[in-house]
Amino acid sequence: MPNSLDKYRSKRSAQTTPEPFSGEGNRPRLFVVQKHAARRLHYDLRLEWGGTLKSWAVPKGPSLDPKEKRLAVEVEDHPVEYADFEGIIPQGNYGAGAVIVWDRGSYTPVEDFASGFDKGKLLFQLSGYKMKGVWTLVRTKRSVKEWLLIKHQDAEADGARTLPEES
Ligand code: MN
Repeated sequence: MPNSLDKYRSKRSAQTTPEPFSGEGNRPRLFVVQKHAARRLHYDLRLEWGGTLKSWAVPKGPSLDPKEKRLAVEVEDHPVEYADFEGIIPQGNYGAGAVIVWDRGSYTPVEDFASGFDKGKLLFQLSGYKMKGVWTLVRTKRSVKEWLLIKHQDAEADGARTLPEES
């Protein structure tokens, strides 16, 4: 897909110049996790990107233990306003059940997100109430929609804590 920044990028090398490269920058962006008691309870991780919320359904929720790889199924993008939604989705509607905002804050890409979606690896720093520090999402080989959410080993990691069970 041609991009209006292709010419700019063709003249530069992201690895060898400190100039901004992606056009999206690494500014802090919105992230939210919504606990969703649908037919099957899950946690919806949403990261603001490109004017929408990129979204993953995490059945077991995030873990602070870097050894725990949590399945995160990529679902459809959601509108940015969805980050504020709490309420009951009525029976008969898609995703019927209760939704609460379980965590929210900002995230900052640690590695370029535009190429990260292509490569299937997103590395980002979270500043939430429950989720902090560096996290990664890695696409599995099984399916383009199937990712793993993993806590990066850092000061916010905790091998003894799995967040959803605490709340
Ligand atoms: Mn959901």
